[in-house]
Amino acid sequence: MLAAQQRPRLIDERGLRTDGRRPDELRPIRIELGVLKNADGSAIFEMGNTKVIAAVYGPKEMHPRHMALPDRTVLRVRYHMTPFSTDERKNPAPSRREIELSKVIREALESAILTELFPRATIDVFMEVLQADAGTRLVSLMAASMALADAGIPMRDLIAGVAVGKADEVLVLDLNEAEDMWGGADMPIAMMPSLNKVVLFQLNGTMTPEELRQALELAKKGIAEIYQLEKKAIKEKFVEVS
Ligand code: ADP
Repeated sequence: MLAAQQRPRLIDERGLRTDGRRPDELRPIRIELGVLKNADGSAIFEMGNTKVIAAVYGPKEMHPRHMALPDRTVLRVRYHMTPFSTDERKNPAPSRREIELSKVIREALESAILTELFPRATIDVFMEVLQADAGTRLVSLMAASMALADAGIPMRDLIAGVAVGKADEVLVLDLNEAEDMWGGADMPIAMMPSLNKVVLFQLNGTMTPEELRQALELAKKGIAEIYQLEKKAIKEKFVEVS
C-alpha cells in the first residue's frame, strides 16, 4: 500500500468528489430490460462506469433431480467479472471473491423471490460484470432483480442498493473505485424498499456509531432514488410490450 501522503485527495476545496459529484449524489443510472433473446429474463444495469448484464433461466425442472427441494425452488447464482472489466486483465477463472459474492447475492435474492411457489424447480441467475468501477456486487444484485422481474418471477419487492463510504472523513454516497480504494470505509447495503427490509449489509473499514447512523440515512435516500428508476424501467418495458 502507498504511503498516506501519496493518496489522492478525494474531496476538493469546493467539497466535490473526484468525479465532480456532491457527497450525497448518485452516479448516473441506466437500466434496460429484455436485452437478451435467449434468456427468460435479462437486464443491463449501469451505475456510472460500473456495468453489469444479468440473465435468468427458469423456473425449470431441477437436474440432477436429487438436488431438488420438495418445498421451494433452488436458486443457482453466479457473479463473474469478465477479463476486460478491470484495468488489468482479470483471470477468467472464478476467484474466491467471486464465489463469496455469488453466495452473498444468492442469499439476498432468496429473501426476495417467492421460492415456495415453485417446489422441486430451479432458477439460474448469471451476472457478468462488463466494467468495474466499484459497487459491482450491488449493481449485479440489482441487475439480477431486474432480470428476474423481466422473467416474470414473483418477488416480494425489487431490490435496490448502494454503498456509503468515507472519503477524506466525509460520508459519501455511491463510491467510485478511487473512493473504494482510498476511503476510510465501504458500507454496501441493499433493501426491498417498500418493505423496509435489508437483504445485504456489509461494512469494510470503521465508522463511529454516529457515522453509521448518518450513513444509513444517506443510503436510504440513495436507495429511494434508485427504486424509482427501477420501477420506471419496468413500466417502460411493460408499456413497450403491451
Ligand atoms: P464491489 O465491486 O462490490 O465494490 P470490492 O469492494 O471487492 O467489491 O471491489 C471494489 C472494486 O475494486 C471493484 O468494483 C473493481 O472496480 C475493483 N476490483 C475488484 N476486483 C478486482 C480485480 N480482480 N482486478 C482489478 N480490480 C478489481
